[in-house]
Amino acid sequence: MTKIAFVGLGNMGGPMAANLVKAGHAVAGFDLSEASRAAAAAAGISVAATLADAVADAECVVTMLPKGAHVLSVWGELCGLVKDRTLMIDSSTIDVESARKAHALATGRGCPSLDAPVSGGTGGAAAATLTFMAGGEDAAFGQAEPILAAMGRRIVHCGGAGAGQAAKICNNMILGISMIGVCEAFALGERLGLSHQALFDVASTSSGQCWSLTSYCPVPGPVPGSPANNSYKPGFAASLMLKDLMLAQEAALSTGAATPLGGLAAQLYGLFEKRGQGGRDFSAVIEMLRGLEEV
Ligand code: NAD
Repeated sequence: MTKIAFVGLGNMGGPMAANLVKAGHAVAGFDLSEASRAAAAAAGISVAATLADAVADAECVVTMLPKGAHVLSVWGELCGLVKDRTLMIDSSTIDVESARKAHALATGRGCPSLDAPVSGGTGGAAAATLTFMAGGEDAAFGQAEPILAAMGRRIVHCGGAGAGQAAKICNNMILGISMIGVCEAFALGERLGLSHQALFDVASTSSGQCWSLTSYCPVPGPVPGSPANNSYKPGFAASLMLKDLMLAQEAALSTGAATPLGGLAAQLYGLFEKRGQGGRDFSAVIEMLRGLEEV
C-alpha cells in the first residue's frame, strides 16, 4: 500500500484514482473543479480540500491535468509541499519541453520523477487497461511500475526525461494520419459504389489494416462498437486529436523533423474544430472530408 496524492480528477484522472483505491492504495485526491471533486468522492476517493492537504503524507504524487502550463504550475507548487524523495508522476499529455522542465523541478527538489502519459481513453481508464509510456530514470520507473500497474495493462519504459511524451505524440500522429486515410478510402469507395462492408472485409485483412479501421471504423456497420454506430459520440474527441497533432507539430518544428502528413492532419482537424465539431469523435472527420471532395 502506498500513500498517493492524485491531482486532476477529470474524465481520465477520476477513474484512474478510483482504480488505485481498488488496488488497496491510500489515495487523497484534489481538483479545482467542484464537479470533478463530487464525481471522485462518489467513486470512493477521499477528496482533500487543498493541494497541501492532499500531499501532506504522500509517498507518491500523480498529476492528470489538461496542458503543460497546468502541470508546470502544479509541480512548482508541489515542490514546496512534498516530503523528500516523494515519487512524482505526470500522466497528462503535454509537450516534451514542459515534461523536461517538470522533471528538472522534481530533480531540483530531490524527488524521483516520471512522465507517464497514457493511451486507451476513458474506457481504458475505467477498466484499468491503459498503456503507459514512461520517461525518466530507471530507479523512478522501478518505483512507479507497481503503482501504474493498478491503472494499466501495459507499461513501457521509453527512455529518459520526456521520452514518454515523445512516444505518445509520435503514436498519436500516426493515429491522426491513419484515421484520415481510412476516412478518405471509405469516401472514395462510396463514390465508386463499393459497400462499406466489402471495403472493410478487404482492407481489414489486407495491407490497409490499421487500428483506425479495425477499432474505430469511421462508418457505421463493420465494427459494431465504433463511435460511428453511436452518432460519433466520443470515444476520442476530435479536439483532443487536434491537441496531440499540434504537440507533434511543435516538436517537429523545434527538432527540424519533416512531418508533412502530420501537418496536413493537424490542418484538417483544425478546420473540423473551427466548424464546431471538436466535441465529436475524431472519426466523424469523414463527414467533413466527404464535403471537401470538390476542393
Ligand atoms: P479533464 O478536463 O476531464 O480533466 C482535467 C482535470 O484537471 C479537471 O477536472 C480540472 O478541473 C483539473 N485541473 C485543472 N487545473 C488544475 C489545478 N491547477 N489543480 C487541480 N486540478 C486541476 O481532462 P481529461 O480528459 O481527464 O484529460 C487529462 C489529460 O489526459 C490531458 O492531458 C489529456 O490530453 C490526456 N488524455 C486524455 C484522454 C481522453 O480520452 N480523455 C486520453 C489520453 C490522454
